[in-house]
This record gives sequence, structure tokens and C-alpha cells, in this order.
Amino acid sequence: MSGNPAGKDVGVFTKNQIVPVTIEDISDTGEGIGHVDGFTLFVSKAVPGDTVRARIIKAKKTYAIAKAEEILEPAPGRVMPECPVAGSCGGCQLSYLSYKSQLELKQKKVEDCIRRIGGFADVPVLPIIGMEEPRAYRNKGQFPVGPANGGKPSPEGAVAAGKASSKAGGSSPKERDAVIGFYAGHSHRIVPTSCCGMLWPGHEEILAAVREYFTMSGAAPYDEETGQGLVRHVLMRKGFSTGEIVVCLVINGTKIPKPELLWERLQTVDGVVGLCLNVNREKTNVILGDRLIPLFGKASVTDRIGEVRFEISPMSFYQVNPVQTKVLYDTALAYAGLTGEETVWDLYCGIGTISLFLARSAKKVYGVEIVPEAIENAKENARINGIENAELYVGAAEEVFPRLTKENPAIGADVIVVDPPRKGCDGKLLSTMLAMAPARIVYVSCDPATLARDLRILADGGYRVERVQPVDQFPGSVHVENVALLLREEEKQCQDTRIDHA
Ligand code: SAH
Repeated sequence: MSGNPAGKDVGVFTKNQIVPVTIEDISDTGEGIGHVDGFTLFVSKAVPGDTVRARIIKAKKTYAIAKAEEILEPAPGRVMPECPVAGSCGGCQLSYLSYKSQLELKQKKVEDCIRRIGGFADVPVLPIIGMEEPRAYRNKGQFPVGPANGGKPSPEGAVAAGKASSKAGGSSPKERDAVIGFYAGHSHRIVPTSCCGMLWPGHEEILAAVREYFTMSGAAPYDEETGQGLVRHVLMRKGFSTGEIVVCLVINGTKIPKPELLWERLQTVDGVVGLCLNVNREKTNVILGDRLIPLFGKASVTDRIGEVRFEISPMSFYQVNPVQTKVLYDTALAYAGLTGEETVWDLYCGIGTISLFLARSAKKVYGVEIVPEAIENAKENARINGIENAELYVGAAEEVFPRLTKENPAIGADVIVVDPPRKGCDGKLLSTMLAMAPARIVYVSCDPATLARDLRILADGGYRVERVQPVDQFPGSVHVENVALLLREEEKQCQDTRIDHA
């Protein structure tokens, strides 16, 4: 017989047991990690260096999920979070640490990955580049919308975003009350929120406008449990260099009631240039569906990075921290070592940001990206910047890159830049990169563990990892971006000889 007898937990811990534990590390999702008698505890609201009294929430055979109930000994960098929803919102997992301590933690995380997972004892990991003002940095917000009280009859005093009029439909106003906020850590419970300290000041006016719209229009919030209801997410993106803002409602349908009411109200918010809809009718955790319906004004925002201008659709990936993006791209540009003679591949190119940033210093740039709208943006961006030496392709990098270079071997590759999602590069892509043998590879990564794994494969294939530069793109969160430079071994020897002879 398998299973767990009612009321008993498996393993060494029992539910609600209190244990003292010292936090040694932090997980990718922000829980403090500690050990008790050889068992691992994942403790929410605890950071490395803390000793806490932890209450066991869920006990498994080899590990347990717990919550810090009391701080017995605070970590040296522990601070009171500035954000009123810290602890309930799953967003800024490191808000309990001073920014200096956050940077130290990220530096250590990158070093650990490079040494342990990559097996590189002596690759330099340069000091992380942090922000001077590590708040209000995000240019994109996405707020889930749901029925108040999870769709169940709400007790008096539940925080609701707006009340639907009785004309709106058959169900009672209480069931149709909407909450807008953030997901609580590890759940899809929505914590009602009217603002976020990491977003640009003024975004709360957009949320207020949407709340009023709910009241006026009777639009129903989407209920994840039942798959019923209309509005799933409120998305907003701002071009920091232009001030332009586009608002996009993600909906379980193709139209919203009385859209002009929302547009009228949104136009009173400084910077709003467009309103659109994104259609997502799937029962899924993925936020965006694959159809965009422009409603009023522009369907993209304009932004500038350095001297390059970009149009960005709500459907496309765009780095969320403009200040640090410039740092990241400048580092990638420096590592690419361009003289104007090189053929460059920018794989996982998004809306062509890195491609176009590098194009003016290269002979030719080829970009490959899987999202068609992003490539449409990339082509438009090349055009509006008068960049004629960039060719941009839709498709999976691991298919398009081998195919194009096989069909046309003369293209070649002097420099390859990759910037994959967290899971890292596809194995087939790494093999093609090795076969193409560019002099340099610049690896931009948002996950130090998969970066370290892929660097090992490239190093075993004949490249030397020169250095890794961490850049803090996401203050407050556990995430850290990196740029790594790899030189082909022969190229490295040539360079060393040139230096010897200098
Ligand atoms: N370099 C860009 C985008 C980096 S994010 C920038 O700095 O803005 C990673 C990008 O990879 C996303 O745009 C995502 O859509 C794309 N992507 C994911 N899997 C891919 C694949 N297999 N092939 C090509 N692109 C992919």
C-alpha cells in the first residue's frame, strides 16, 4: 500500500512542527535553504545568514517546506523591506536584504555555478555591476486579475477592485468583483496591490483607471479555477527614453465591453499612447496568447538604447531594466571586439536589440528569433534606424542557424552572440556553434547554472572562457544576468603571441 496515512507526514518532520534552522543559501525561487539533521528545509521569508524558528508547512521524505515565524539571529545585511506587500507578493524575494548584501549574494551564486557546475577553477568572475538607484527600474508590469476571494462568496471587507453593475450579467456583484495585484509566492492567489516599488512612478494611475473601468463596464474578471470570465491580466510597458506607455488587457475572448470608456480614462494618464488586447483562451499559466488586437492609438512603444531606436510590441520580449540593459549591451559590444569586418550571428535576438546595437560596428549581422512579432519589430527597427546590414529570421535558433549556414557555407561566423531563455542553449545549437568555429562567442545569460553548463560544453569543444561579467538587471529578485566572453583556443594563442611580441 502506498500513500500517507491521514494526519501523518512522511519523513523526519511533521506538519506545524517548529524547528530552529540557519539559512545557508537561497533557491532559484527565493526560499532560504537550510539543513536540519541532514534534511533540507526551504524556508520562506528567510535569507542566507538568518537563524530562524521555522514552522513546517509541508513535509516530504527528503525535504520540507517551511515558513520563518521568528528571526532568532538576523543575517548581517537584513533590513526591513520598504515595500508594503513584501512577504505576501512573490516578486522581490530579496527585499529582506540590503542592496549591498543582495549583490554579494548574486556574486557568490554566479561564482558557485561557474566553479561547481562549470568546473572552471580559474575563470575570472568580475565584480557584479549593480545599480546606483535600485528601485523604480522596471519598464514593464503585468498584474493578474481574478475574482475577489478566489471566486467564492466574499466576506465583508474583501479588497475589491471594482463592483460590476447588476446589468452586467447573471451572476451576483460579489462573484464578479475583481482583484488586481500580484501572485503570492508559489501560488496563484492574487494579493491585491495598487502599486509596485520596482515599476515607474505613475503606473498606479493605470491600475486605478482599469479598476474604474471594471466598475463602469461590468467586465468580468477571469477565474482560473473555472476558466470562466474575461479579463486575465493587465499589462503595461513604458519606453523610458520617450515616456510612451502602451496598456494591454489579456482576455479570454476577442472583445471587451465598452472599450471606449477605458480608453477615455487611460488618456488622462500621462504618457499613455495606446490600448490593445491580447487573446488568451487557453487554460494555462502562460500569460500571453498569440493574437494581438490593437484597439486605440499605438500598438507598440518607442524606446531608445544608446543611439538605436526600437518599436516594441506587447507580444515581444524586451529587457525590463533600461539602465542595466545599456550596461549589458555595452559589455556584449566590448566583448564582441568588432572592427567593422566581422560577420556576427545574434541568436535568440528578440526584437533585434543586440543585433542592431552591434550592426553599426560589424560588416553583417544575422539575427534569429522564434517569436514572429519580435522579428517583425526587429525588421521595422532596422528600417527606422537606417540599418541595412542586418538580416533577421524567424525560427528556432537550433534549426535556422544550422540550416542557413549549411545552405550557404560562405556566410561564415566571426562572432556569435547568444542570449537564450533560462533553460540555456539547445545542444544542437551548441554543436553548430562549435562546428562554425567563430573566433569569439559572447554568451549573454539570465541563468548562471545553465550558463555554466553550456560554457563547459563550449570549453570542451575548443574555447577558452576569458571572463564572466555579472550585471544586476533585477534588484530585489534572486535573478542575475551575465555576459561571458569565450575565445577559440587558436585565436587565444595568436592573441597571446601578439601580446608577447608587443
Ligand atoms: N537578445 C534579446 C532577447 C533575449 S530573451 C534581448 O536582449 O532583448 C530570449 C529570446 O529568445 C526571447 O525573445 C525568446 O522569444 C527567444 N527564444 C526562445 N527560444 C528560442 C529558440 N529556440 N530559438 C530562437 N529564439 C528563441
